[in-house]
Amino acid sequence: MSGTPYPSFVDAPWTDAYVRLANHCSTCATCTTVDKEGVNLALPCATADQLNEEYRQARRARTAPASPPPDSPDSQGIEIATGAFDRPC
Ligand SMILES: [Zn+2]
Repeated sequence: MSGTPYPSFVDAPWTDAYVRLANHCSTCATCTTVDKEGVNLALPCATADQLNEEYRQARRARTAPASPPPDSPDSQGIEIATGAFDRPC
């Protein structure tokens, strides 16, 4: 490790989630459990899973488009379904 506490993307939108994940993984008793040879056992941890998911979502949100493209099959399906449910009784 160098003297830099965090990489240069420190002001990226997902840095918050990354720092929370890193802080958890270095302090959580479950996440830091090691065997007698000092190898991390990578025990399942619900909190770590959640923080990891938030980090992935934050990174994905930065690159993914805000809305689906106009020719998306999903948006067409929604329009068809709405018309079917719109009939009066
Ligand atoms: Zn943990």
